[in-house]
Amino acid sequence: MDYIAQLDTAIARLHDEGRYRTFIDIERRNGHFPHAVRTRPDGSQQNITVWCGNDYLGIGQHPVVLKAMHEAVDAAGAGSGGTRNSSGTTISHKRLEAELADLHGKESALLFTSAYIANDATLSTRPKLFPGLIIYSDELNHASMIEGARRNGGAKRICRHNDVAHLRELLEADDPKAPKLIAFESVYSMDGDFGPIEEICDLADEFGALTYIDEVHAVGMYGPRGGGVSERDRLAHRIDIINGTLAKAFGVMGGYIAASEKMCDTVRSYAPGFIFTTSLPPAVAAGAEASVAYLKTASELREQHQTRAKILKLRLKRMGLPLIDHGSHIVPVIVGNPVHTKKLSDMLLDDYGIYVQPINFPAVPRGTERLRLTPSPVHGSAEIDQLVNGLITLWAQCELNRTELAG
Ligand code: PLP
Repeated sequence: MDYIAQLDTAIARLHDEGRYRTFIDIERRNGHFPHAVRTRPDGSQQNITVWCGNDYLGIGQHPVVLKAMHEAVDAAGAGSGGTRNSSGTTISHKRLEAELADLHGKESALLFTSAYIANDATLSTRPKLFPGLIIYSDELNHASMIEGARRNGGAKRICRHNDVAHLRELLEADDPKAPKLIAFESVYSMDGDFGPIEEICDLADEFGALTYIDEVHAVGMYGPRGGGVSERDRLAHRIDIINGTLAKAFGVMGGYIAASEKMCDTVRSYAPGFIFTTSLPPAVAAGAEASVAYLKTASELREQHQTRAKILKLRLKRMGLPLIDHGSHIVPVIVGNPVHTKKLSDMLLDDYGIYVQPINFPAVPRGTERLRLTPSPVHGSAEIDQLVNGLITLWAQCELNRTELAG
């Protein structure tokens, strides 16, 4: 085989479809987020405003988090030095797990190096423990859940997005005695819509299924203590396994599940993605612990976040931009073509210093390519003005349609 030619063909395909991804080199500056500095390809620098980050609350630069991390580095050094089973379980890991179990009102929590790994490792281990398990997975579930549900011989059923009637049909079609697990998200990251948690829990009760929710785009931001939508809707007790990230609203890095002690113990004991990898650095765990604890009491930050998202959506709607609004903090503006989306993103960056990356297939269906804006409490009026003005001007310049899609 001509390996080089194969590689060239694979990359050329992405260029042809207008969805070849390029990195934007940015320097985050502590205390100044969402402002950052971009190094252009020619080496020159440009001040930019980041509008596509997932540090949803700007907590990644909060003094409480930084202090905890500094102190932990001084106290414990850089890395953990091992897997959880071989010297990599420190007091920072234990404390963070206790904090997370408390956040979700569960007996236990288990840390992973990311929420991707947490989803993949947990879901892929379930069929080992429940032979004949059938996983019912929402069609828009994140890649990490899709990967996890694919392995280890479990059967998989794909449910139309948020379609509870379809989920019922699928459940009814299977052997009533078969073990079952329903996997879904609380906030879907690309459209910003909410999963029907209560209806899914009702179906799970009726059909004797376990429930698995990904709250990655909700933890820290929803619920009185930041326990996610399941906390906000008082449904956390009806969910068997809650997955979350420490890398988005909690501003650091890492992922976890929160569940019963037995559930966590089996994942801990059987999941290769937990067992055979070095644990998070203690300073990362300490920073995340400080962040989770801080956000349990920072309701005003959550309120500010929602207010900023509402203001941005209102202003964009008034200008007739086609945005999807399901009432969450995520603001997707639909362009509907990969080439236009990339061009718009490039022009926003080059001409206005606004950084929002293009979102293309496979992250979203073809024809719904978009700019996904993520306002935060640290995006103030000046930043919103700059973004709205830039978008409006470029929208007109590119002669793109102005029609509202939803909301
Ligand atoms: N689940 C969902 C829904 C996500 O969008 C993401 C990442 O963006 C993940 C899981 C993975 O999270 P992490 O970045 O912690 O691996």
